[in-house]
Amino acid sequence: MTLLTRRSFLKTGLATAGAACASQVPLPAAAQTKNDGELATLIDIRKCVGCEACVEACREVNAAKYPEPEKPFPKMYPSRVKVADWSGEDKREVRDRLTPYNWLFIQWATVVVDGEEQEISFPRRCMHCQNPPCADLCPWGAARKLKNGITLIHADICLGGRKCQVVCPWDIPQRQTGVGLYLDLLPSFAGNGVMYKCDRCYNRIAQGELPACIEQCPEEVQTIGPRSEIIAEAHRIANEEGAYIYGEKENGGTNTIYLSPVPFETLNRSVDKGPGKPHFAPVEDQMAHADNMAKAMLIAPFAGLAAGVSRVIRAARRADEPPEDNHEA
Ligand code: SF4
Ligand code: SF4
Ligand code: SF4
Repeated sequence: MTLLTRRSFLKTGLATAGAACASQVPLPAAAQTKNDGELATLIDIRKCVGCEACVEACREVNAAKYPEPEKPFPKMYPSRVKVADWSGEDKREVRDRLTPYNWLFIQWATVVVDGEEQEISFPRRCMHCQNPPCADLCPWGAARKLKNGITLIHADICLGGRKCQVVCPWDIPQRQTGVGLYLDLLPSFAGNGVMYKCDRCYNRIAQGELPACIEQCPEEVQTIGPRSEIIAEAHRIANEEGAYIYGEKENGGTNTIYLSPVPFETLNRSVDKGPGKPHFAPVEDQMAHADNMAKAMLIAPFAGLAAGVSRVIRAARRADEPPEDNHEA
């Protein structure tokens, strides 16, 4: 078995599991490894104590990826498009929901377990779907799924049009205005910022490290490994200990598998839902009836154009910048 928790990682390293994952997608190169296979995470809700060490770890390791918007914001067009600004001192500190500065939060629910009322907690973030509508339907190719099961949004290409959030069954990606490629194009017409979400620490995984939220959890709530092994382990625990599974079949299958002490219908009734606070309801495969070939034909030219424009603009920026600023984020 190559399932890894914080403790087993300290013994074996992620290289064992990492060797089973791969990407032939050139973006980002750091996520490429040697062999095929999707990695999934198992989140055992029964172990979580709500300490938020995972949230703090996520914020710390991803701080350099967070948006630093230019202000004042350009006039929005059409005017019904609202500014989404999480960059103020107070809003950056919001931890009870997903934001562009908080890719993971702890959700709470009051449920009855073995006849006793209990408050339980669990980490929520992107599910890393196997057939992600956010990536399949992004008109600019900014959201991509890698072969190692990670879905990420490339901040240099994203125009913040929010399509990924609209088609995501859990409304995961969150927008920040005043940052990204749209500022270089037509600020009033070409988008509204950049969308942000968990990228499952793709750069850490590529270097043989655990995602920060897994590494820092004192209760070993999360386990990471090849998806087939994670699914088998989830079913073993569910059968032996009477737990319930979410994420295996939802939206056609995801790479985030939850184990709960109560049915997910019950959990879903109790969680606080709304913007930035995902549900635990059943989800059908959003892409089941999509014509993938037609989609690919439509998306490819735009993706290429966006990437090309991005490269030109970045090259121009580099030429204008002093050497100390000439680096990739
Ligand atoms: S660090 Fe672990 S125990 Fe603490 S809130 Fe996160 S998942 Fe739960
Ligand atoms: S949960 Fe939403 S944002 Fe994450 S991969 Fe699935 S569709 Fe995309
Ligand atoms: S995998 Fe990385 S980016 Fe995703 S929630 Fe965990 S620490 Fe944050």
